[in-house]
Amino acid sequence: MQSAQDAAAHAAELHKQAIVIDCHSDILIPIADGYVRMGTQVEIPDPKKWQPPFEIAEGSSQGRGWPRDSAFGCIGQYSLPQFRAGGLTAQVCAVFVKDHELERALRRSLEMVWWLHREVEDNDDFELVTTVADIHRIKREGKCGAIMALEGSEALGYDFKFLDLFYKLGVRMAGLAHNRRNYFADGTQYHVHTGGLTDLGKQAVKRMNELGIVVDVGHLNQVGFWETLEIAQAPVVLSHRSPRKYFPLKAEESPFHPAYDVSRGRERLEALAKNGGVFGVFFLVARDVDDVVADIEYVIDLVGPDHVGLGSDLYGLHNAPEGLEDISKVPAITGRMVRRGHSDEVILKVLGGNFVRVFEQVWKG
Ligand SMILES: [Zn+2]
Repeated sequence: MQSAQDAAAHAAELHKQAIVIDCHSDILIPIADGYVRMGTQVEIPDPKKWQPPFEIAEGSSQGRGWPRDSAFGCIGQYSLPQFRAGGLTAQVCAVFVKDHELERALRRSLEMVWWLHREVEDNDDFELVTTVADIHRIKREGKCGAIMALEGSEALGYDFKFLDLFYKLGVRMAGLAHNRRNYFADGTQYHVHTGGLTDLGKQAVKRMNELGIVVDVGHLNQVGFWETLEIAQAPVVLSHRSPRKYFPLKAEESPFHPAYDVSRGRERLEALAKNGGVFGVFFLVARDVDDVVADIEYVIDLVGPDHVGLGSDLYGLHNAPEGLEDISKVPAITGRMVRRGHSDEVILKVLGGNFVRVFEQVWKG
């Protein structure tokens, strides 16, 4: 039995060796909106101290949560200094189009892609990751990488040449839908839409597999989840969710619409494991570090240690778990897992090893 001090030293050393990959962040939103830059750490805004700048008219077209959302988002929770402090090897950065931006989805997405390229140009130790070799080299060189992902495929319209183009621009992960319904699939919104994938959505999965883009099933409803796994020719990820809520085993644990088929929770997680996929456990809505580790252990207990990773999705201080308020705090998870008696091998898989395995299987190069 090692002392608490030894355990802390061991955890710190292990974290330093680890390839650490976080599978979800919305930091490109406030960057593209002009609020923050990747190279500078800013304070996380305190929602308690925030007042709307003016009375908001009904029908304001900025979408749900605005302007509160714009004032917070994940500002202060992700930046290069915080990636360094958190020992991050690579951060998945989502290209996400809000409801009120849908009519200019392609333009808005390209704007976010442009910003990520610009951040890479402006920061010497920040790189765009497009191959597994990049990840290993970045780790060796003590740099930090960004993996570009589409969170929802609205930007593609009906036209896969844009998928090819996004691939060329560096996109290596993509989900068909966010919460809402679109041309490709029904999203998770309330689980009331049970339509699953459209023909276009099925073609998109095939094309993503051909190109070497990891398919993210995280925002699909249960029908879409099953359909994607049936046609996927490569491992998928579920980039950012709570497994206890996404795969609940009991009806009372399901936060979703009553139509949600709780009885297949375990079966769905087993199907993800059989596909070789990885579940990114998010920090959003967790109470504290223990709660996040409990989610990780939930997956390990049901399907073993090869199918779980991190997908933080921090989004404002009001949603952040205690002890994991921003991405620099990720080593707290390593510390907690060491103290809980997990082996080095398991912890390295959770921190990033499992995602690297998926990338090796899916990316071309
Ligand atoms: Zn999301």
